[in-house]
Amino acid sequence: DATLVWLRRDLRLTDNPALDQAARRGGPVIAVYLHAPEETPQYPPGAASHWYLHHSLKALGPALAQAGIPLVLRRGPALATLRALIRATGAGAVYWNRLYEPDAVARDRTVKQALRTEGLDCRSFPTALLHEPWAVRNQADRPYRAFTPFWRACRRQPPPAAPLPAPDLRDRPVPAVEGLDLAALGLLPRTPWDTGLRNTWQAGESAALARLEAFAADRLARYAQDRDRPAEPGTSGLSPALHFGELSPRQVWWQVMAAREAGVPEDACETFLSELGWREFAHHLLWSHPDLGDAPVDDRFGAFPWRPDPGDGWLHAWQAGRTGIPLVDAGMHELWQTGWMHNRVRMVTGSFLVKHLRLPWQRGERWFRDTLVDWDAASNAMGWQWVAGCGADAAPYFRIFNPVRQGERFDPQGRYVRRWLPALANLPDKYIHAPWTAPEAVLRRAGVTLGSDYPCPLIDLRLGREQALSAFQAIKG
Ligand code: FAD
Repeated sequence: DATLVWLRRDLRLTDNPALDQAARRGGPVIAVYLHAPEETPQYPPGAASHWYLHHSLKALGPALAQAGIPLVLRRGPALATLRALIRATGAGAVYWNRLYEPDAVARDRTVKQALRTEGLDCRSFPTALLHEPWAVRNQADRPYRAFTPFWRACRRQPPPAAPLPAPDLRDRPVPAVEGLDLAALGLLPRTPWDTGLRNTWQAGESAALARLEAFAADRLARYAQDRDRPAEPGTSGLSPALHFGELSPRQVWWQVMAAREAGVPEDACETFLSELGWREFAHHLLWSHPDLGDAPVDDRFGAFPWRPDPGDGWLHAWQAGRTGIPLVDAGMHELWQTGWMHNRVRMVTGSFLVKHLRLPWQRGERWFRDTLVDWDAASNAMGWQWVAGCGADAAPYFRIFNPVRQGERFDPQGRYVRRWLPALANLPDKYIHAPWTAPEAVLRRAGVTLGSDYPCPLIDLRLGREQALSAFQAIKG
């Protein structure tokens, strides 16, 4: 009989344990994607994430078909839809790869129990992470709260198994099954705001593998130096591919190992692998703090005196990249136009929102959730709690990024700022990160009128910093 493989965020053929096991089971294999966002209400993806998903599924359908595996698209609740597909195909097994968000885990558990009771061979496999989030524990048998010992414990474990090959089932006849057209899943925006995304991303497994290989060959060796420079293409850009499982982390791992064998320096490889470690740590945290996206891990922050909603549009100015602080605004423009933002700038824009503007970090978390193509419940929530200083192993609250100094340090010629804020393109390097300090004549020569071509700063940085510190005093206890 047939096996259904319920694909979710494992949109690839290579190193896909559920597909591999289904192929070994014998009989036809039918891949299914079920769109049921209402089943995961705690961490619903936003518009940019849906956009990427659409294009990833678009690439996946033909790739699966070439391997003799049809991809059936459906909408509707998982259990009922799977039951209908089991009836239609006579399938005797349903396999999938695990997700780890609490709402998805609860749903999957219900589905598995129900199908097993009905006599199906129903199994789930680990592949989205290098380590199951509950499997790494400290000496007191508790989850880790700090990254360094967590990652050290991970590194003490044996290396991940080698990636699995893609199945080739072209010789197995498959029953015809009705599904929806991709467009009917409704993942694309109704108004076409996605030009920038289309110009930036190529979704799908083969594009992801090509990106990984190119990164390992050309940029990994300089990763440790270049990763903090937002103007450089110094990082891998693999985050949406990893989120949607166009690649598995162990494929990335083994590619890094191969690069090391080929002479890429150890420190570059280790620095890059530790970023995969942060991804693991985020899931580890979400596992022990299911409401990581809403509630501070450090519960003192429940009483933090956020700025009372002033109704003056500060949140909107931040979202639109109109705060008057160039590095912050450049980052918010990069995000809006490409669905991605450099990690260094995520930290700076986040810190500015939470500390200088003193708006709740959850507001920023929601905006990133809606606009990032790599939005990930665990990594985004951890990132925001880190920035806000209220997470596990977070930057202390009193360490407040100065966005001008961050710009001078990591974007010294202002190339990143000029790229995303063309209005400032002709300002000399000296003033590019703080145009309000430029003499009138300099601004005139650069063709910048503050307040019309580019906003005046929303807030005095020193004052914002002082107010943030005294707000922190109130909860320090
Ligand atoms: P690289 O530097 O090439 O890193 C390789 C991979 O490691 C990334 O693709 C990613 O999977 C993982 N990684 C790297 N840094 C981190 C990190 N700090 N935390 C977790 N995983 C990491 N990352 C997301 O994938 N989704 C998010 O929604 C997300 N939200 C964030 C929000 C904030 C406020 C902050 C500060 C960081 C957030 N990050 C998020 C982490 C990080 O910014 C991105 O993973 C990284 O910028 C992606 O670019 P890259 O693939 O070129 O990274």
